[in-house]
Amino acid sequence: MSINLSEPAVQLRELRLKTITGYSGDAEHLLGCTKTGTLQNRERSFSQCGSCGADQVMNMLLTLQDAAVVEHGPAGCGGDIPFRNGGFRTGNRRLGLDVHNVHYINTNLDEKDVIYGGADKLEKAIREARRRFDPKAIFVTTTCTSAIIGDDVPGICDEMERELGIPVAATLCEGFRTNIWATGFDSASHSILRKIVKPPRKKQEDLINVICFTHRYHYEDVFRQLGLRPNYIVPFSTIGQLEYISEAAATAQYCETLGSYLAAGLEENYGVPEIKAPAPFGIAASDEYLREIGRMFHKEKDVEKVIASEKEKIAPQLEDLRKKLSGKTAFVGAGGPLAYSIMGMLEDFDMKLTGGYIWHHDQRFDNDDPRLDVLSFHVKHFGNFPLGVCNKQSFEVVNALNHYKPDLYISRHMSPAWAIKLGIPGFLHGIEPSEMLYEGLIRYGELIYHTIANPAFAKNIARHSKLPYTDWWFEQDAFTFLGGEADA
Ligand code: SF4
Repeated sequence: MSINLSEPAVQLRELRLKTITGYSGDAEHLLGCTKTGTLQNRERSFSQCGSCGADQVMNMLLTLQDAAVVEHGPAGCGGDIPFRNGGFRTGNRRLGLDVHNVHYINTNLDEKDVIYGGADKLEKAIREARRRFDPKAIFVTTTCTSAIIGDDVPGICDEMERELGIPVAATLCEGFRTNIWATGFDSASHSILRKIVKPPRKKQEDLINVICFTHRYHYEDVFRQLGLRPNYIVPFSTIGQLEYISEAAATAQYCETLGSYLAAGLEENYGVPEIKAPAPFGIAASDEYLREIGRMFHKEKDVEKVIASEKEKIAPQLEDLRKKLSGKTAFVGAGGPLAYSIMGMLEDFDMKLTGGYIWHHDQRFDNDDPRLDVLSFHVKHFGNFPLGVCNKQSFEVVNALNHYKPDLYISRHMSPAWAIKLGIPGFLHGIEPSEMLYEGLIRYGELIYHTIANPAFAKNIARHSKLPYTDWWFEQDAFTFLGGEADA
């Protein structure tokens, strides 16, 4: 593990987890090369788009109820804030929490600041954030501009922390710092671990931290049956809630990409063990996940009862969904562990996976335990499948969709509009209903069925759409622009 909380910057994912962004082949081959340490990253000679690590920092920190974020950069870096504000307000409303705007200030660096430095502006913005929002903590995020001009953001934050008497955390996440956008999750987690989390007062033996986005409530029923309480973090939490996540008895994940660093940091620094099992998507992973909880909390018999009763509850609906979906083909584009979790659910519906593209591939996780490896879990239970690592490059995904022509495209992050313009029904994973555990599987199956039951919408859109790609591109291999040698 490389968690050094004395440093303001998190170690980059490409160094820590040996993350790669380019690969073409299949799941077994990727796993084999990862295990033997022979996997080489393959860079592209052409990229259509990129993603900024600050994006993921904002996903986590801007959705805290009583903190403020000061983004030290030009106003353009805050172009996503209105969209995030909408998501925050909607999320609060859905969760029955106080509906309010995000607490955000941008230092609006300009040409003059690039020459003379932006330290004064930053100090002023931090004081203004304190005056305007009265936050319990302030997170100062960096941008390409503030990093290029070399403002001493950690030093200023320490000074302001002394002046204001609340945590002021430098969160170093400028876009060019890393090739891996998910490093942003780690930067936010690093700040939380460094500046917010306190040593436990007393352990809470029934409390499980659940690192997730907005997928709350879906654990409640199953956890309650086991005498456990979920503590959903980080989005929509309060600073008070985060201060004592060190008191929990365990940490669970929605997706290892999101919470690898935070879970490992809690384990290393406060002895809060991570649940070493794949996230509970689909029958096999949900069984494994609950059994691991059973082992950790010495509730093995209770867990078996819960598994049996939950499966019995969903059996008729699952059977019905299998009849409707059996043999339908699907292609998945998502972040690694989550993509494999989605694929596991497709297997439960007896659907046929034509392949999947993931955004990047982490060769290890911060808690480097093979039980967390969802790809291994998937291959062991369901077998091999065509797999690519595409770094969110739409042109590669569109090429693959045109090649495989699946009945369904499931996408995370990237709009499914590309598929729909090809006449392929699709949806953006992450919209409600949530898909975890047994009842979640049924909700997900219904979403799939409703998406593909009538493909007329996608077909009509395709008839009236013109894609920007030429026939030439569709005749090429999707990974034509990957350089380097394919791994043997
Ligand atoms: S930090 Fe850099 S990559 Fe991120 S939005 Fe600003 S300029 Fe773009």
